[in-house]
Amino acid sequence: MSEKMQKYIDEAEKDLLHTYNRYQIVLDRGDGVYLYDIDGKKYLDFVSGIAVFAFGYNNKEYNDALKAQIDKLLHTSNYYYNVPAIEAARKIKEVSGMDRVFFTNSGAEAIEGAIKAARKYYFNKTGKNDGQIIAMNHSFHGRTFGALSVTGNPHYREAFEPMIGNISFADLNDFDSVLKLVNDKTCAIIMETVQGEGGIYPATKEFLESVRKLCDEKDILLILDEIQCGMGRTGFMYAWQRYGVKPDIMTTAKALGCGVPVGAFLLNEKAGANSLVAGDHGTTYGGNPFACAAIGKVLDLFKQDNIIENVNEVAPYLEKRLDELKEQYDFIVDRRGVGFMQGLVFDRPVAPVINKALENGLILINAGAEIIRFVPPLIITKENVDDMIDILKSCLESI
Ligand SMILES: *Cc1c(COP(=O)(O)O)cnc(C)c1O
Repeated sequence: MSEKMQKYIDEAEKDLLHTYNRYQIVLDRGDGVYLYDIDGKKYLDFVSGIAVFAFGYNNKEYNDALKAQIDKLLHTSNYYYNVPAIEAARKIKEVSGMDRVFFTNSGAEAIEGAIKAARKYYFNKTGKNDGQIIAMNHSFHGRTFGALSVTGNPHYREAFEPMIGNISFADLNDFDSVLKLVNDKTCAIIMETVQGEGGIYPATKEFLESVRKLCDEKDILLILDEIQCGMGRTGFMYAWQRYGVKPDIMTTAKALGCGVPVGAFLLNEKAGANSLVAGDHGTTYGGNPFACAAIGKVLDLFKQDNIIENVNEVAPYLEKRLDELKEQYDFIVDRRGVGFMQGLVFDRPVAPVINKALENGLILINAGAEIIRFVPPLIITKENVDDMIDILKSCLESI
């Protein structure tokens, strides 16, 4: 590492609140599927800013669209209409089949809005504010209080109790565990269609169908968190489309902005018409012209560049190459995931492998201590997969 980079890292460790154990690189620029640090070292990136940069880095059309909007109008406030927001809403409705959208600045805020909408729906129906929410163990929905309250990882919550209350946790893919918790006060069931941070656990079709049926019978709102697994990553624009199980409310973020901090929660007509109204919810920046120019362009580029087709073409190859690794090394015990959201499960901590990969010019990330997560840009080719596997193998040999 250059003296210059070490100096920056030392400064960061003095000035930034230490809420992350960061990898020891300072990144400078990106191009396609590659990142470069400030010393000019090149990295193949299989993280994409945690499932964000769907088109890779430095996409010219995307950058140009953002620059044009900067020169036109950055912000208005939500008390006025703006064309980018209207167009982004139309486009996201088209790809999701949902009916109403609220734009946020992040994933966690999308979850907050979804929870508020569910509680309001129950309040309108019963006149009471004792609605309960069922969430899933091993889930991750974000770090703000509402989102943390439905995050099924006690370690993240412990120091910050009390949470928002009336939340209980079932096990993903265990319908009986859901049935045990359901009662007349249940207003929503929330889950990630494919769990991300918790270790890459896809919901089964059977489980989703059973929960959907239960929600229909009891007028419970099904909230699907598509913040990580959505936006084409599983080979469908939204992962639930793969199963044909439509939520009442869904959340999306991460690749929705491809680098611009945005999110959204979307509602079907039933939830939209019977929950939040004027005065119930708001945001200063959410849905501003700049953010929505980004969203609109992202959705255009998905179509124009056949992004989802590429996922469906290359993902089976990624799976095959990861399965080969599993066969080859005893300490790799499982491979699971959907599309470009894959986890390689080890019988030991993966931090040494990830650090070694970084040294060898490959960016990877974990999902839990013993799982390497693969969430690459959606534009990767089979050659990129081969390159990644070659570097990863060289790291595995050394542990
Ligand atoms: C990242 C993530 C969030 C939180 O999004 P932020 O933009 O970090 O607030 C919520 N849910 C899931 C599934 C995520 O992966």
